Amino acid sequence: MYHISDIKKFLKCERLYHFSKDSGTIFKPYLRSDENIMELILKYFDITEYFEGIRNDSDEKFENNVDKYEWFIHPRFSYDDLRINIPLMRKNEDGFDLFFIYYGIVIKELDTLTYKISLDLLEKKDYKINDIYLVYFNGEYINDGVLDPKKLFICTNLNKDKRIIDVVRKSNINFIKIMDSLNKSEIPKDAKKNKYCRLNGLCEYYHDCFPSEESLPDDSILTLVSSQNKNKMYEADIEYLKDVDTSLLEGNRIQYAQIMASKNGGLFIDEYPLRKWLSNLDERPISFIDFEWDRYLVPPYKNMKPMDVLCFEFALYYLDKNGNLEHRTFVGTGDCRKEFIMALLDYLPSSGPILAYNAIGAECLRIQELAEMFDEYAEQLNAINDRFIDLFTPFNEGLIYDIRMQGDFTLKKLVDICSKYSYADLNIDDGLKAVFEWRSIDNKSSDNQDEVLNNLRQYCSLDAYGLFLVYKWLVELMIESK
Ligand code: SF4
Repeated sequence: MYHISDIKKFLKCERLYHFSKDSGTIFKPYLRSDENIMELILKYFDITEYFEGIRNDSDEKFENNVDKYEWFIHPRFSYDDLRINIPLMRKNEDGFDLFFIYYGIVIKELDTLTYKISLDLLEKKDYKINDIYLVYFNGEYINDGVLDPKKLFICTNLNKDKRIIDVVRKSNINFIKIMDSLNKSEIPKDAKKNKYCRLNGLCEYYHDCFPSEESLPDDSILTLVSSQNKNKMYEADIEYLKDVDTSLLEGNRIQYAQIMASKNGGLFIDEYPLRKWLSNLDERPISFIDFEWDRYLVPPYKNMKPMDVLCFEFALYYLDKNGNLEHRTFVGTGDCRKEFIMALLDYLPSSGPILAYNAIGAECLRIQELAEMFDEYAEQLNAINDRFIDLFTPFNEGLIYDIRMQGDFTLKKLVDICSKYSYADLNIDDGLKAVFEWRSIDNKSSDNQDEVLNNLRQYCSLDAYGLFLVYKWLVELMIESK
């Protein structure tokens, strides 16, 4: 039996579908939700009586219950080798309405593939479908201390003023044809680059698909960022950034820095603007800070909205005028927002610049959200935000590029380049792992909790220390270039 998720993978990339078919990878959601969303939706609609389908149900099970209920949750249907599961279905006079859940507060893009396949499959089985609704999260809803499912959701059959079912019907997705190709599919011998190879980071099968790229030079043309044509250039035997075909170049500042670094033997520095940027950091103490947070689909605590974040940890180093480096950390559990704010106000030096990596899109935003949730600390928190300087700026504006970055602008990569420290030595070595570990704390014994908290401290501290290392590296490069 196939599921719509198989079709989605198959349409993205045939090799991806075959590789992942038997991998058994457990999906870990980026958004946290401790509540049962369907139970909340049932409360939203005041549904108390319903049929509930379970895994591997036959179609007959639905048919045997269709006259007994108005509402059906997760009924299963199959056609040929395809099995579908409708989140929620309502029977009305002459047919059914389908309800799908949209995990967001703004409907950005319809999952037309899922809706069209579900609609066509049900109609092939002679069920009349009258309408399609989406249930999504109400971004205006604020938890006042008691979660109110009536206000948590919005239900609509419209998207951009058009009925969703009309939009779906117009789609030319044909699941019979897709299933036919899927049934005949064999793993393609040669991998071809597609947009999913590097969509959200590197595809986990990238090195299996393109083994020759493991030994690419640091200044390979394939490291060129924001380039539509790098694969085309690579296939045309352009190996290095320095040999770029300028007619195929978008020509942004980072690309310029990358090409110049390749031409200069590895490093490009736009000296004057970088020196000017560093002059913002002359005052002491300088603070280096990194936050960790989790994002909740359903707001679990007072004053939180759907999709809000909860900061659970920070690590801080600060360099005083005598060159001493002090270290502080905070890591909390449960609703630790207030403790986080108090520790932040307590540990941060009262003056001087604060460096973070991608500060504007991360730490500054988090502080602003905390200021909105806790009015009593708003003034102090906003004053902290005024002191932030983003360490990402010199890299993002093409003031410096080292070919050892290999087109990777993460703090981890920079730490790798400019120091002997490595995240690989830590039990938690990336931000998502930190979030999943933090989520697991509630179910652990106190000894194991301490171990996780300690691992979290080490990970976040290396991020904060990494900021210091990168700053020091930039200062040393400026001294060398004098
Ligand atoms: S690396 Fe690209 S070609 Fe290979 S499986 Fe992933 S998406 Fe498909």
